[in-house]
Amino acid sequence: MKRLSKYERLLFEKTVIGLALCRMNGDLVDVNSAYSALIGRSVEETLTLSYWEITPEKYALQELSQLESLEKTGKYGPYEKEYIHADGHFVPVRLSGQSVEIDGEQYIWSSVEDITERKQAEEELALLYKEVEQLSLLDGLTGISNRRMFDQTLDREWERAKRNKSPLSLIMLDIDFFKEYNDYYGHTQGDECLKQVAKTLREVSKRTIDLVGRYGGEEFVFILPETSETNARHFAEQCLSAIKQQKLPHIPSTIAEVITVSAGVCTFISFGETQSSALIECADKLLYQAKKNGRNRLEYQQE
Ligand code: GH3
Ligand code: MG
Ligand code: MG
Repeated sequence: MKRLSKYERLLFEKTVIGLALCRMNGDLVDVNSAYSALIGRSVEETLTLSYWEITPEKYALQELSQLESLEKTGKYGPYEKEYIHADGHFVPVRLSGQSVEIDGEQYIWSSVEDITERKQAEEELALLYKEVEQLSLLDGLTGISNRRMFDQTLDREWERAKRNKSPLSLIMLDIDFFKEYNDYYGHTQGDECLKQVAKTLREVSKRTIDLVGRYGGEEFVFILPETSETNARHFAEQCLSAIKQQKLPHIPSTIAEVITVSAGVCTFISFGETQSSALIECADKLLYQAKKNGRNRLEYQQE
């Protein structure tokens, strides 16, 4: 590089992209300050190093395939890798280069860009995406699973129960006289009531494999895998009693002074060719019967 004119040297030095010339064995022969800044060192210090000393081991294979490409085509990259910074952390970079011949000797001439900011942005975006995905599986008002999550879980548990020949139970719950509640207390208070009911239902459920969701409006649902008809019924009774225990006043209700729910409990133990929707229809029908039979109660039936 000594043959560079003053002008060329200035351009080399002032380029914002890292530039490096190295021997085929990896010894760095010349680098500009943008290159040495990438790894947190001075130009002089960098020139005492080999390319392999600033390349993390995990990139060894990738580097070999780039060298192959260099041999075949005289070029390599652009590709992404990391350099080892003087303080030990890894710096993500985008690199490309070509082979050059100087005085009959082969060298690699490469240009390197720091892509830390882009990588960080990508990571943040991926995290944000995950959050959005999670948010869209939860009900915005109550924070419990939404209909989409319920549908996905039911399909999964249905297949699992079928495979393992284990019972699968579903409970549909619906707040009694909720229209009257809204009319009497107002919609905002209605929303608060829904939140409270969701919280109570979530607290009743102790097992992590159970799913509690908002099916829609003032209807809630439980998916209880590996749960017999008797256990599902007991569980539903606990739900009804926990809701009453909240003692949320419901003056316009004609069956109690507090918020109550009705429930339909359905358990499938053999599945045959039926679809998971059969379980929903069954629980829904039983819920309807519970309403017809006076509300603040549950109805159940085995398949
Ligand atoms: P039943 O005992 O037969 O279930 O009677 P109900 O009044 O509870 O049933 P109905 O289906 O007639 O009314 C449901 C009410 O739930 C009507 C609707 O305004 C209210 N509701 C549904 N979603 C929401 C919500 O997100 N917030 C509030 N505040 N109210 C809701
Ligand atoms: Mg309803
Ligand atoms: Mg209702």
